Amino acid sequence: MTLPMVALDGLERDRPEWRPWLAVVREVVREAESARWDAAVPARIAPQAPGVPLLAGAPLSLPVEPVRQWADRLLRFGSRAGTPAMKSLDAVSRSGTEALELFNASLCQDAQRVREVATTAGVDVEALQALAALLPVPFLLAFGRRAAASRSESWIEGYCSTCGAWPAFVEVRGIERSRYCRCGRCGGEWHATALSCPYCATRDHEALVAFVPERSGAPGTIDACTRCGGYVKTFTRLQGCLPAAVLLEDLASVDLDVAALDQGYRRPSGSGYSWEVARA
Ligand SMILES: [Zn+2]
Ligand SMILES: [Zn+2]
Repeated sequence: MTLPMVALDGLERDRPEWRPWLAVVREVVREAESARWDAAVPARIAPQAPGVPLLAGAPLSLPVEPVRQWADRLLRFGSRAGTPAMKSLDAVSRSGTEALELFNASLCQDAQRVREVATTAGVDVEALQALAALLPVPFLLAFGRRAAASRSESWIEGYCSTCGAWPAFVEVRGIERSRYCRCGRCGGEWHATALSCPYCATRDHEALVAFVPERSGAPGTIDACTRCGGYVKTFTRLQGCLPAAVLLEDLASVDLDVAALDQGYRRPSGSGYSWEVARA
């Protein structure tokens, strides 16, 4: 069994009430382990331009049929996840064109477009947004593997240098305590600028606060910014986690998110970088 699958088993034990949703996440991890998404990634990825995520500059020609099949499977698993909101997802169209549209909207984190698809289909908007966020993950992980060599070492933005997402959390690694942001979509990593907010880039030390939630039970701290109201979870560890495990560690540390939300902080929604899919 792979490490992400072991982590999923652990989550199922610790959070039995999450099982219906974890079954959906398990499908994503399983799909991400299939080699077919590697074929959908451009063979060559151009070197990184300053400030532009690698995915935003890459011409993509996503194969319709695998996307349609995968969207269909994910929607089926999602609609079985128990709640009436998730059940409503049965009504989302399974056509290739619409699956690709949903996939592309989610790839760019275009929440407005996903909302429109949900409204047209008459399904619960939040349920579709939660599921759609997982749809491109197997492709994004494959893209992240190939993009690793093209990533700029001098990236200074707060968003993912590979796919443009905001960080899922920060890892403070090893004895040198290097700080890396991690992406919960493509599994990517990039240097986190110390003493700077990843969202609004302020370096005003009076605006940057760190706290350890009292009753979270989760290892980790919260770095927050009183200027923009954003926060990021921070974990100290020897090595970075596997790309496919970022999503799971983000889920497993939800107690920290709850504590940050209680304090009035939030994670920004949408992408850190606005872009549209360029057809190859
Ligand atoms: Zn990313
Ligand atoms: Zn900020």
